[in-house]
Amino acid sequence: MAEKKYVYAFEDAHGLGRELLGGKGAGLAEMTHIGVRIPEGFTITTEVCALFYESGKKLPEYIVEQIFEAVKVIEKKTGKVFGGSHNPLLVSVRSGARASMPGMMDTILNLGLNDETVAALAKETGNERFAMDSFRRFILMFTNIAKGHSREEMDKMLADLKEKNGYKLDTEVTTEQLKDLVTRYKAYYKKTFGEDFPSDPKEQLLVAVSAVFKSWDNPRANVYRMMNNIPYSWGTAVNVQSMAFGNKGETSGTGVAFSRDPATGENKISAEYLPNAQGEDVVAGIRTPLHIDELKARMPKVYDEFVKTIKIMENHYRDMQDMEFTVEDGVLYFLQTRNGKRTPAAALKIACDLVDEGLINEKEAVCRIDAMSFDKLLLPGFDKQVLKETTPIAKGLAAGPGAGTGAIAFTAEEAEARKKAGEKVILVRAETSPEDIVGMVAAQGILTMRGGMTSHAAVVARGMGKCCVCGCSAAIVDEHARTVTIGDKVYTDKDVISVDGNTGNVYFGSIKTVEPDLTAGYFGRLMSWVDEYRDLKVRTNADTPLDAKQAKIFGAQGIGLCRTEHMFFAKDRIFSMRKMILADTVEEREAALAEIEPMQQSDFESLYEVMGDFNVNVRLLDPPLHEFLPQEEGLIEELALATKKTVQQVKDRIAELHEANPMMGHRGCRLAVTYPEICRMQTSAIIKAAINVSKKTGKLVEPEIMVPLILEEKELKFVKNIICQVADELIATSGLNMKYHVGTMIEIPRAALLSDEIAKEAEFFSFGTNDLTQMTFGFSRDDAGKFLPAYYENKILEEDPFKTLDQNGVGKLITLSVKLGRATRPNLHIGVCGETGGDPKSIEFYHKVGLDYVSCSPFRVPVARLAAAQAAILFPRKK
Ligand code: ADP
Ligand code: MG
Ligand code: MG
Repeated sequence: MAEKKYVYAFEDAHGLGRELLGGKGAGLAEMTHIGVRIPEGFTITTEVCALFYESGKKLPEYIVEQIFEAVKVIEKKTGKVFGGSHNPLLVSVRSGARASMPGMMDTILNLGLNDETVAALAKETGNERFAMDSFRRFILMFTNIAKGHSREEMDKMLADLKEKNGYKLDTEVTTEQLKDLVTRYKAYYKKTFGEDFPSDPKEQLLVAVSAVFKSWDNPRANVYRMMNNIPYSWGTAVNVQSMAFGNKGETSGTGVAFSRDPATGENKISAEYLPNAQGEDVVAGIRTPLHIDELKARMPKVYDEFVKTIKIMENHYRDMQDMEFTVEDGVLYFLQTRNGKRTPAAALKIACDLVDEGLINEKEAVCRIDAMSFDKLLLPGFDKQVLKETTPIAKGLAAGPGAGTGAIAFTAEEAEARKKAGEKVILVRAETSPEDIVGMVAAQGILTMRGGMTSHAAVVARGMGKCCVCGCSAAIVDEHARTVTIGDKVYTDKDVISVDGNTGNVYFGSIKTVEPDLTAGYFGRLMSWVDEYRDLKVRTNADTPLDAKQAKIFGAQGIGLCRTEHMFFAKDRIFSMRKMILADTVEEREAALAEIEPMQQSDFESLYEVMGDFNVNVRLLDPPLHEFLPQEEGLIEELALATKKTVQQVKDRIAELHEANPMMGHRGCRLAVTYPEICRMQTSAIIKAAINVSKKTGKLVEPEIMVPLILEEKELKFVKNIICQVADELIATSGLNMKYHVGTMIEIPRAALLSDEIAKEAEFFSFGTNDLTQMTFGFSRDDAGKFLPAYYENKILEEDPFKTLDQNGVGKLITLSVKLGRATRPNLHIGVCGETGGDPKSIEFYHKVGLDYVSCSPFRVPVARLAAAQAAILFPRKK
């Protein structure tokens, strides 16, 4: 029977795609295809990951067979033998999911070593020290990575040995000492696991491969997946690859390279090299690598080939590449390539440069920018003037963008706890590891003592768009004593420092920050492309002229949601509002409203003035009334005095307004139905403001009035009548030919279902996805925090439905509503407000269902513009 193939040699895998091969596997196949020299090997596909779990975390027999057949193929090509006592084949076992995923199992190198093969290796290379060193590393990695046991004790054995002999470098340890270390490592293994270190390479391989699949489900990987919207179902692939030895001596070495500068985007190779070392030394930040000029000086021919190959790869992928390489006895091997992670600023520059170099077109450039981290470009940086006058206390590598100021925190848990308590912190570590992710998220910035541009801290920080300075060797971090020593000064958790991710400088104290310029340079250029290609308009949610101004600078094309309740909460207004709520009669209520109206009107006037030609959509009062009422005794007394009521009467009224479930109670348009005078006052303020501004500027304002929480047509008609009566009369008296629009939010499932009827009355719809999500799910956003984590943990939900639209459920209602609404009124203007309006993945959906605009908070506007353009480029609408 022809069996399905689950294991592919690199040269047979070209074109199978990263879904099946994972990112690393796809890269290895691609490099083989374009003729870049890489060590032989094969990929076990991502499909096996699911099979592994289905078989009770075991590799099915037919897959084990395919694996060993693939090993035979490597043996043939290399002339080496797996487990052989002559010319032994050693391999690395490398995980590789579709998207690069810190948290997955680390790579195991030198697999296949045992007493016999290590002797053969020593003999054939004539380098016993190298053989013993490889064996030592392998036992350590196998114990730590495949078996998941802490490496602390084994590291200590080496550290003690070095100390006892006064060695500074690992390379000073002698062959005999390494031999002894191997014996002790093995004894330690036996003591820990109650069995001998596996000497059979086949057994070693299967344990290691299984460990990779197991790591797909470890807590660190799960946290990372959540943060980055990576579905659990994807699974990881495993790559098994013949070793290239960078630790064979002075004509060997290892390094990492970016084809362009990942911090600034500058078109110049940015690389590091570590002579006589294996890859893990660099990646783990154990030794800080040297500048690539070291390779140029030692082996100019290898360096030339290195530069040429990088150019070939960059031209092939038409994007900045992040590569690993190893030189074995003067022969250059590449081990990995991928599109390099970069700071948002570098991403911009690289995209524009690639267009200028003719490698990509404008549309591709737009799609190259990561919308999720795009808002990082709007981050303030340190004030340049202040920086000039301030001397840094230390300098490291500029590894992650932006500027961060905060007190020193020494552990991830501490950073998280202090952030929760409202403090700003900088996470300071000797080096970071995947366990530190929560702390990195919580911190304003990260500072590490060790590690280069591809150390864990640097890679993760760039991915998060977090400010990071790494490899700052002048800062001696003592995590036990909880101190950082720089020169002769000692800093503690009480001290505030500032780290500049753009320069690598570290300063004492906090430094003033300034806003970036959004019209100039690469940003302006990219945004002009973005605006050319998108179909969705982008509006903003803004209640104040300040927000509106900011949003306009960010490119907002109108206000999609002005929440008027915020306008009632101001100190000078809430008192009138409270009087209005406590009123017993319509007259009393109208008198209180009359106090509020001029204030509302002037708010609207300034919003109209700021927005100029763009429309402003005002939503009528929405929250439950009791939210406005005071709880404090003093305030209650003051209110009683002003309204000529007794304190008890006020308290009774407050009690009366209490609702068991306010979010589903007396709020939204229910307020307009019960207290039409509120709606009248608001309409009057909106229209009078529009009339005044129209007269003042000579341009007719076109107000949009939005009714919240509508359930059905009759209800909307009732409220609309109130609005139109007031508005028409005011406009008639003004003598202006002013238009206005009345529409509704769709935020209750019933309204979505009855959209065909509601559209008879509504000129526009706006999906309020916060309420629509709560009502569709049947739980409130405010309470969801208590149980959603369990839903993520058990993979019932994979992302927060309040941040990213639940396309399956809520999205179905939206799709239906759009269809029904437009069937009644083909030119129905439809948008979305609510948090998902600024979320790239949700925006793609809104583009696809044919909305006219999205509205989001001012800070998200550029992200939304970009995401809208990317959606339009990837999924063109039928015109
Ligand atoms: P990661 O995804 O954490 O970078 P990798 O699988 O790329 O893990 O490997 C970690 C380090 O080991 C890298 O420096 C890599 O170049 C090196 N490495 C992996 N496989 C081999 C190999 N077959 N020969 C030499 N070095 C290797
Ligand atoms: Mg790698
Ligand atoms: Mg709502």
